Amino acid sequence: TLQAVSNHGVRFNHFFSVVAMEQTFIAVKPDGVQRGLVGETVRRFEQKGFKLVAMKMVQASSAHLEEHYKDLKEKPFFSGLCTYMASGPVVAMVWEGSGVVAMGRMLLGETKPQDSLPGTLRGDFCINVGRNIVHGSDSVESAKREIALWFKREEIVTWKSCTHDWLYE
Ligand code: ADP
Repeated sequence: TLQAVSNHGVRFNHFFSVVAMEQTFIAVKPDGVQRGLVGETVRRFEQKGFKLVAMKMVQASSAHLEEHYKDLKEKPFFSGLCTYMASGPVVAMVWEGSGVVAMGRMLLGETKPQDSLPGTLRGDFCINVGRNIVHGSDSVESAKREIALWFKREEIVTWKSCTHDWLYE
């Protein structure tokens, strides 16, 4: 078996199949931390098969959160959102895998808990859009921006999971 990982995160297996890897930014929000949902969030991403490459607990500043949510600054809920997100520590993570941005959003559920199906984090554990327990990047582009905002380059760990070849053909 010939196996090599390029600088662009593409893994070549067995001479022909190519798995394009993505990374996404996931954060357990202050209500999720307070309600003891850090382990549950990590468990669901782990059991799906995604690879954890960075994780830290952070008390985010208002300025940091205003930057994180800058696309929403015209929304009426913007200041309440930033206050909520600064109300306690968040657990910030980077998860890696093929399609992890879109599938991560599926694991979270919809923005509004009332639209989120049971089986999703928001469908199972919360009620109110303003207390929706977890954040997940909504596109590959925003994932890149958010990862760079929350993590230094040296905080992202490169490692080979022994499950890789059981998850990807
Ligand atoms: P998502 O977090 O699902 O990507 P958005 O980017 O639209 O959703 O909104 C960011 C966050 O702002 C939501 O997760 C939620 O915490 C909060 N939010 C969104 N809409 C509302 C609302 N109508 N009222 C209060 N908070 C909201």
